[in-house]
Amino acid sequence: MDPRVEQFMAQVKAKNPGEAEFHQAVMEVAESLIPFIEENPRYKHAKILERMTEPERVILFRVPWIDDKGEVQINKGYRIEMSSAIGPYKGGLRFHPTVNLGILKFLAFEQVYKNSLTTLSMGGGKGGSDFDPKGKSDNEVMKFCQSFMTELSRHVGANTDIPAGDIGVGGREIGFLFGQYKRLRNEFTGVLTGKGVDWGGSLIRPEATGYGTVYFAEEMLKTRGDSMKGKVVTISGSGNVAQFATEKANDLGAKVVALSDSSGFIYDPNGIDAEKLAYVMELKNVRRGRIEEYAEKYGVEYYAGEKPWGIKCDVALPCATENEVNEEKAETLVKNGCFVVAEGANMPSTPGAIEVYLKNKILYGLGKAANAGGVAVSGLEMSQNSLRLRWTREEVDERLHNIMIEIHKTCLKYGTEDDGFINYVKGANIGGFVKVADSMLAQGIV
Ligand code: NDP
Repeated sequence: MDPRVEQFMAQVKAKNPGEAEFHQAVMEVAESLIPFIEENPRYKHAKILERMTEPERVILFRVPWIDDKGEVQINKGYRIEMSSAIGPYKGGLRFHPTVNLGILKFLAFEQVYKNSLTTLSMGGGKGGSDFDPKGKSDNEVMKFCQSFMTELSRHVGANTDIPAGDIGVGGREIGFLFGQYKRLRNEFTGVLTGKGVDWGGSLIRPEATGYGTVYFAEEMLKTRGDSMKGKVVTISGSGNVAQFATEKANDLGAKVVALSDSSGFIYDPNGIDAEKLAYVMELKNVRRGRIEEYAEKYGVEYYAGEKPWGIKCDVALPCATENEVNEEKAETLVKNGCFVVAEGANMPSTPGAIEVYLKNKILYGLGKAANAGGVAVSGLEMSQNSLRLRWTREEVDERLHNIMIEIHKTCLKYGTEDDGFINYVKGANIGGFVKVADSMLAQGIV
């Protein structure tokens, strides 16, 4: 490792002990940025990267609530306000038992770069709770959301910090959170994105992350004179991002053969067409069931406890969670002919996996570029809320598509190497950094 990166990381680790995912996210960025900062000493003197790895504010709070049996439950609540250099804090809320400070700091850190790449004016933040919505009644989810928002409402606002969804936080949770904010503050403002379309939401917001990931994959393929048409695609996850990545891949003429959840994956060699996808949506969003049921319904293989990366494919779209593709799985993907990896999820590939992609010079679109479509349409939802109007589905989709094309161009600008290979890691990290860093320079030491 570059000794300058090593030295920088030693400081980050000493200041943030035990936060493995945060260290991992910072290291990936530091490897791209430290050589660039050396060439641009103004960033070095102002300690921009050092400041960007320290959140502007961390809010930690107790979330007490009463379950259906009348028992008192206590969860942890968090909001990490990472950077407001280019706009109000913006980033999702995650409700999952694995949530801790290190995971949310990694997500908030990535969010700063991602939001900058979208071309819109949004700072970076992230939050959530170790609350697990799985197996809870709607009433319990509502009680929890109301208690969570009772504290969070002091810290967020349409011009301050605008949370959205993430793992475990979908339309239902956003509704309960919004209702409680409105009740406490007596104001109807765009304090959250991912709202229902009848009460301030944007069309295409649910679709945006998955669609955007596939638009990004299509742009990557174009650099090799290719397209999604006819490609065999494996996808992990079967939640929001995975569902709409499947839909867009189908629209562009690809065949999606795998989906997963935290219990295992299904392999459907005939492809998950529109009708089967509608079944997955009903299964996951309404009945909140397991992907295993797909295998029973359609008579295909189900692999318990496994991830879909051993299945032969051209394009892999990890859309579940962090660190779900390791070095060995990346080797398998490449060996089986996969030459495009576009990340719908945040940091789904381990550093070892990324090394494999780069060594083999495949098209690798990292999450902060490839999945930025979600927050981009959240930004468009904020614009529509401010203007008090609603754009059509076509208008929002076109803007989303254009933003993904712009993000891809930024990656080309900063990531094209001497031999013509596009290093999207470098491209996205430097491209995301410059706008934030220049804004920080202009605003003084704050
Ligand atoms: P959902 O909660 O809708 O779906 C998550 C999916 O991933 C589910 O299928 C879930 O399985 C699976 N999953 C979750 N945790 C694990 C785990 N530890 N191991 C294996 N599988 C797991 O979330 P989203 O689709 O919204 O988010 C997916 C990813 O995309 C996350 O990394 C998120 O940060 C990222 N992302 C999301 C955006 C958005 O707009 N929603 C925007 C940008 C990035 P199960 O059903 O068993 O829980």
